[in-house]
Amino acid sequence: MTAAAPRISFVSLGCPKALVDSERIITHLRAEGYELAKRHDGADVVIVNTCGFLDSAKAESLGAIGEAMAENGRVIVTGCMGAEPEAIRERFPGVLSITGPQQYESVLAAVHEASPPLHDPFLDLVPPQGIKLTPRHFAYLKISEGCNHRCSFCIIPKLRGDLVSRPAADVLREAEKLVRAGVKELLVVSQDTSAYGIDIKYAESMWADRSVRARFFDLAKELGGLGAWVRLHYVYPYPHVDEVISLMAEGLVLPYLDIPFQHASPSVLRAMRRPAHGERTLERIRRWREIAPDLAIRSTFIVGFPGETEEDFELLLEWLKEAKLDRVGCFKFEPVAGAPANELGPVVPEEVKTQRWHRFMAAQREISRRNLAKKVGRRLQVIVDDPSGPVARGRSKYEAPEIDGTVHLSSRRPLRQGDIVTCRIERADDYDLFGSVV
Ligand code: SF4
Repeated sequence: MTAAAPRISFVSLGCPKALVDSERIITHLRAEGYELAKRHDGADVVIVNTCGFLDSAKAESLGAIGEAMAENGRVIVTGCMGAEPEAIRERFPGVLSITGPQQYESVLAAVHEASPPLHDPFLDLVPPQGIKLTPRHFAYLKISEGCNHRCSFCIIPKLRGDLVSRPAADVLREAEKLVRAGVKELLVVSQDTSAYGIDIKYAESMWADRSVRARFFDLAKELGGLGAWVRLHYVYPYPHVDEVISLMAEGLVLPYLDIPFQHASPSVLRAMRRPAHGERTLERIRRWREIAPDLAIRSTFIVGFPGETEEDFELLLEWLKEAKLDRVGCFKFEPVAGAPANELGPVVPEEVKTQRWHRFMAAQREISRRNLAKKVGRRLQVIVDDPSGPVARGRSKYEAPEIDGTVHLSSRRPLRQGDIVTCRIERADDYDLFGSVV
């Protein structure tokens, strides 16, 4: 059973600017899994976006706060009248938080405190850092929930059930709203993005003036037309992924694939019961690179899975050297309560796991260093994540936020978060790139 999503009741007063603020706050909250409530009573918290321009507007705002306090009692106030917190506190000392106009982050922080978003670090697809607040220039777009696979180390299907895909039109409407609210990069997530739509038999739904099938390729293509960067996470190496790679070659979606390979040894993959474990993945990667030569592949691996022998591990290292993946994470196997893998053996001793982890990371560091060195001298589009500090930080199309490396940017002109700039890469280290905005 999943817990119910927290519910927010929202009152928006004032001018069109205030309305945009409200939309932005709601967009963020919706993306984090909050539901909107139609009435104050029954909501977990009420947000009142006030107007303080005229006395009559102030009176209306105070009236709206009063109503929210009476009907619910857990009230967050923002907007123009928030610039005069004393006037509000005097009348309503129990208000949870008061912030001024355009202080989205403070409003969202107050909501998180009053009613935290549903989050389980073992289950959620959004990285734990992401729950603080996804900066407004990128957003996670969840296209389905649950999973039809039964990997032996994973309990997600037990907890979340089988795959349930959202209709394509729902996903596209949300994506369009996010882009309108200023999001420049959409991060498509699910438990198995390549399986999207299987459960609803690729149902068609109406979006804009056309009918769109709930199919990985069709959805990726439509998302690619929205004008934002589109990045695909959690894809499995099935043959039908090839056609999506061609969208990358056309520049419609980012040339980036996040594929959790987890291992390369057939016997370990079988014991893990991984999807597509019978696929010849190196051949597949080669084929993808033929279609989209600058494709960046990111993956995660588990070392020390029960039964993993030295031979299996060496096979994995060989595979890694062949595959030359761009970005890689590696975890030492840990049992998760309720997962069938806990019954498997023989268990790999902790010190062996640690040694393998170090050997794996050393091999990948070398691959990453060589891959990044090839980017020196190139001009890359970079999205600015953090313009504060003497050197700004951003990412090219080949890096996802939170999990991959950084492009360190020097610039003569001021940069803003979410700007997409052209950068000349001057230097690289093991995991990061360094360059100047041109
Ligand atoms: S693909 Fe495997 S690891 Fe991923 S959610 Fe499904 S069962 Fe779990």
